[in-house]
Amino acid sequence: MLDLIELAGLTSKKAKEELSLLNDQTGLDAFYAKYLSKKGEIRMLLSHMKEVVAEKKKEAGEAVNKAMGEVSAAYEQKRAKLETEKLAKRLEEEKIDITLPGRKLTTGRINPYYQIIDEVTDIFLEMGYEVVEGRDVETDHFNFELLNVPKDHPSRDMQDTFYISDELLLRTQTSAAQAHTMCERSANPRPIRMICPGKAYRRDDDDMTHSHQFAQIEGLVVDKNISIANLKATLELFVKKMFGEKREIRLRSSYFPFTEPSVEVDVSCFKCGGKGCATCKDTGWIEILGAGMVNPKVLQSCGYDPKQWSGFAFGVGVERVAMLRYGVDDIRRFYTNDTRFLKDYSGK
Ligand SMILES: [Zn+2]
Repeated sequence: MLDLIELAGLTSKKAKEELSLLNDQTGLDAFYAKYLSKKGEIRMLLSHMKEVVAEKKKEAGEAVNKAMGEVSAAYEQKRAKLETEKLAKRLEEEKIDITLPGRKLTTGRINPYYQIIDEVTDIFLEMGYEVVEGRDVETDHFNFELLNVPKDHPSRDMQDTFYISDELLLRTQTSAAQAHTMCERSANPRPIRMICPGKAYRRDDDDMTHSHQFAQIEGLVVDKNISIANLKATLELFVKKMFGEKREIRLRSSYFPFTEPSVEVDVSCFKCGGKGCATCKDTGWIEILGAGMVNPKVLQSCGYDPKQWSGFAFGVGVERVAMLRYGVDDIRRFYTNDTRFLKDYSGK
């Protein structure tokens, strides 16, 4: 005859032994299903009650209850122990080592190209100039013809660019924005003082000093009685603010179709102060700007009567200034998004 009392004791013992070997949640879940669930071995002991003789039923019932109690308590204890271990392990793994150096915050730096544009713009804003950016895609009319470069003009060869159609092209100079401004105001002509910073394009072979895309800042002043003295004074003020109080300029005669007379503007070397060095190629001077008095033909084409109005214009190459100032050897570095370059030349 089945001794339920003994079986309850044996089941309890076996369960507790098995439990002692468990060390994870999966095993614990399987254990619960095997022994403590509704169909588990301990509850199933009760199904044998009917086989127990009457006088032993009470004792047998108590034995099954005792087994249930013991195994449940052992299970709870094990569950709590595993949980504590798991928490301790997690705390150990996630421990913050405060002696480790913190993660460095990286700060972005301004490309020297934009640094120069910002500086030049600020200087002219202080002098009361307005900033007009214009458009990168221009018509032949605004890019060339209004600026005294008709279709057959030889200077077009030097400014060959990217054509979108016969009449649409990528602008070769930002002066197209000046032509727009003059034409827009020609119905009611009034003085103009403007700079146009922005990109210009030429079909150049890319090398260390040439790029098919580059930035210019061109300026235009139109008013009554403007003379070359005004141009010289303005550019002198500009180079002193840009390159230092001690800088001087000299004008050399030159040729541009949209100015007459035209000049190249040199600044006394800001590296050696004029004594001669590699930057100025031992001449003491650095060519920095092209300028001149606005050609009366340009004023006329843009709706300003040259008998009443006169003006001057100038243009500075942004990359050239940045290369000279920061000693950058290759123009392409400005556009290649190399953060090491930005670190080295972050315009301080
Ligand atoms: Zn020098």
